[in-house]
Amino acid sequence: MKHKLLMVLGPVEIEKDILKEAAKPQEYMRTEDYTEKWLRIFENLKYVFQTRNPVVVFASSGTGAMEAAVTNALSSSERAICINGGTFGKRWGEICKKHSIETTELTVEFGKSPKAEDVRNLLAQYPDTKAVFATLNETSSGALTDIKSIGEIIKNYPDTLFIVDCVSGLLTDEFLPDEWGVDIAVSASQKAFALPPGLGFMSVSSKALEFAKKSDLRNFYFDIFDYVNNAKRGQTPFTPAVSLVNQLDKRLEKIKKEGLENYRLRYKKNTEFLREGLKKSGLKILAEHPANCTTAVMTNDFDASRVVKIMREKYNIEIAPSGGGLKTKLFRIGNYGNITEKDIKKCLKALTKTIEEIK
Ligand code: PLP
Repeated sequence: MKHKLLMVLGPVEIEKDILKEAAKPQEYMRTEDYTEKWLRIFENLKYVFQTRNPVVVFASSGTGAMEAAVTNALSSSERAICINGGTFGKRWGEICKKHSIETTELTVEFGKSPKAEDVRNLLAQYPDTKAVFATLNETSSGALTDIKSIGEIIKNYPDTLFIVDCVSGLLTDEFLPDEWGVDIAVSASQKAFALPPGLGFMSVSSKALEFAKKSDLRNFYFDIFDYVNNAKRGQTPFTPAVSLVNQLDKRLEKIKKEGLENYRLRYKKNTEFLREGLKKSGLKILAEHPANCTTAVMTNDFDASRVVKIMREKYNIEIAPSGGGLKTKLFRIGNYGNITEKDIKKCLKALTKTIEEIK
C-alpha cells in the first residue's frame, strides 16, 4: 500500500529515528535498567505536562485515560458538569452517564469556545458539583477552551475537581495545569507527541487523589493508586507497551533538548502557514478561537466528503472528514507530527486542485 501523507488528527507522521525505536528487540521490564528508563520518563512527562503532580501512563488510547479520570475521581450518583462543544466534550458526558453520575451538560455552539461565565452560573446553580470536565482543544471543531479562566472560577469550590482533556492540545497550545487549578489532565500519544497510538497519560493532583480514596467507581485496571505507587519505584502495575515506551522515552528526550516552547512554536508556525494558505484560497476556518494544529474548514458551496475522498485517492493525502450532519460541510486538517512547510504546501496545492475539480 502506498504511504499517504497524514494530515489528520492522529495517527501522525513520525520521524525515522523514533520509528526505529519500535523495531528494537523487546526488553524485560522488571529490571534496574527499565526502572531507570521509567523514572526518566515520569520526570520528563512532568516537564511536558508542566506539573509537579505525578503523570501516569496507561496502555490505552486517550479515551481509556478519560475513563480512568472519571472512575478514579467520582462516585456514582455524584454530580458533574461536562462542557460539550463537540464530539470530545460530549464523550465526557457519555462516560459519566455510563457510570451513573448525575451529569449536567454545558452545551456550547459548535465552533465556539465555552464562556467561563456560563461555568460560573452553573456552579452557582449546582454547588454540590464534584467535577467540571473540559476539553483544551475540542478536536471536532478545533475550538480552543480558555482553561485558565474556567480554572479561576473552580478555585472557589474546594469540593470540586477540574478535569481537562488535553489529548489534542498538550504540546501545541499553552497549558499550565498547576497554575490554572487543573486537578486531572489526560492526554494520548498519537497527536502532538508524534508517537503511534496506544499510550494514555494522566496527571493527578493530591486533591484528586483524596477524591479517589472515596470513589466507589475505582476499577481494577485503572486504579490510580496502583499506578502512582508503582511510578514512585519506576514501574507500572501491568505489562507496559514496551516498544511504545521506548519511543516515548526518545520523544521526551528530544522535546527536552529542543525545549517545550520551541517545540510548540514549531507547531504554531506551521499552523499559521497552513491557515494563511487556506485563507488565500478563500476557505473559511470554523473555530472562533482556533487551537493550533487542528483546522476545521467550512465548505458552503461544495461537498466536504468529496474533498476528503479526492485528496486521498488522487493526491495520496489523508485529511479528516467530519461525522454526522457535518459530513458534507466540514473537513479538518491536522499538522501534528513530522509535517514540514513543504508538506503543507503540497496539501494546499492538492486542495486547490481538488476544489477546482469539484466546483
Ligand atoms: N479527546 C480528544 C480531544 C481527542 O481529540 C481524542 C481523539 O481524537 C480523544 C479524546 C480520544 O482519544 P482516543 O481516540 O485516543 O481514544
